[in-house]
Amino acid sequence: MSAEIESATETIDADIVIVGGGVAGSAMAAALRNSDYKIVVIDKRTAPLDSARGDNFTPANAEIFSQWGILDEFIKRGATKRVGAEFRTSAGEVLLTSSYSEIDIPEPYFLVYHHDLMAETFQEIASVNPNYQLLQPYSVKGFEIEAGSIKSITATSNDGKNIKVRAPLVIASDGSTSNIRAALGFPTFEHPYQHNLVSIFAPYPKELTPQNYFYRYSDPSGHVIIQHRNNGTAKVILAVGEEGMPWWKSATPEQRAEFLARRAPILEGIETEMAGFYPARMIHALQYVSGNTVLIGDAAHTIHPARGQGLNMGISALPNLLAKLPTVAELKDPNKVREALLAFEAIQKPLYERSIARNHVAAMDMEAAAGENHEFVIKRQDEALRKVAATPAIRRRYLHESTGYPLPSSPVTNAQYLV
Ligand SMILES: Cc1cc2nc3c(=O)[nH]c(=O)nc-3n(C[C@H](O)[C@H](O)[C@H](O)COP(=O)(O)OP(=O)(O)OC[C@H]3O[C@@H](n4cnc5c(N)ncnc54)[C@H](O)[C@@H]3O)c2cc1C
Repeated sequence: MSAEIESATETIDADIVIVGGGVAGSAMAAALRNSDYKIVVIDKRTAPLDSARGDNFTPANAEIFSQWGILDEFIKRGATKRVGAEFRTSAGEVLLTSSYSEIDIPEPYFLVYHHDLMAETFQEIASVNPNYQLLQPYSVKGFEIEAGSIKSITATSNDGKNIKVRAPLVIASDGSTSNIRAALGFPTFEHPYQHNLVSIFAPYPKELTPQNYFYRYSDPSGHVIIQHRNNGTAKVILAVGEEGMPWWKSATPEQRAEFLARRAPILEGIETEMAGFYPARMIHALQYVSGNTVLIGDAAHTIHPARGQGLNMGISALPNLLAKLPTVAELKDPNKVREALLAFEAIQKPLYERSIARNHVAAMDMEAAAGENHEFVIKRQDEALRKVAATPAIRRRYLHESTGYPLPSSPVTNAQYLV
């Protein structure tokens, strides 16, 4: 490690270094675009992010973007609005239909935006800051660590050029396999889920209206989720059940369409393109702070995509982190830096404990619907959705939970955990 640092050819001194320019790290840089900090973002990617991942920002995050003055930047670049959600059975019953404008929130829609454009858009926004620098593609391989703090980072370009970056505050947003989390020895709680997820791209089914809703179909054999994308296509997601992964890997497009249409008849004859297979795993860091370094995004909390909240959780923490950041002058004092980060952790950790527990229950329910007793489980889930639809208090809680505005005080029932 130290050998790499010694061979560094250039040194950059910054106020804040952000390792990982995915969604969370780039959003942080965008939020700081009007600040006085000298910011360096390091990212190893040579290609855009995986397009099949989360492609929406929650209404709560749309409100945050509005407060940061960047909401219009997404609309200008083609983001569309998803205004409601509908749960249907394969037999045609509507179990629950809801519009986000039923609750009093300032931006009652999910902002739909391709995942592969998210980081680049945040980075473009961040670049109005003359003190912002992006090192990409540069991979972080070496650290100089002293008493739990990162004193310097060596970023290496594809052609072997080393740059040493020093900053009094380090933000680690290097994703679920975070090198920084490992290097600093952050303890984690991990839970591997049993059922992989399959993600499929398809033309948007014209008869599926309204077109700007989230849809989930349930059939005794399993679920299918259909979401519109902001280019007139659809993303179809499901958990792999008893048919198994080998089936998905070898199925012809016609076999895939036939399988999907059994669960969601609207997909009959659909042209499908495999977007990806995803093993699901929960990884939650037991602490987010070590010395001058704080974990954000998937580096702090990787969650099951059951509720589509992973990237949105990463963004929802940023206002709390921004509020606690030391000033440029305070950054000179390592104690102030550590205290500020610990103050952030004290606020954020309990909020995330709750969301992650909530997400885990939803994930286990999705697992159960793909597992051995799926028929029984799906019947129970359908019944619970009818209850959500018919009971105003539960319906309101569901709408708050799913839009990123959890209600802290009221009791939680099983029915609310299902969606
Ligand atoms: C199938 C699927 C569907 C999903 N759907 C949703 C959804 O609907 N809604 C939702 O909110 N979330 C969803 N998610 C989760 C979401 O995609 C992730 O939570 C989110 O992308 C994590 O963002 P991040 O910035 O923390 O990490 P990442 O996007 O993983 O970014 C990490 C960055 O760090 C960089 N990096 C890593 N190591 C190094 C290094 N050593 N040196 C330099 N750079 C490095 C990488 O290049 C990358 O750019 C889904 C996930 C999956 C798998």
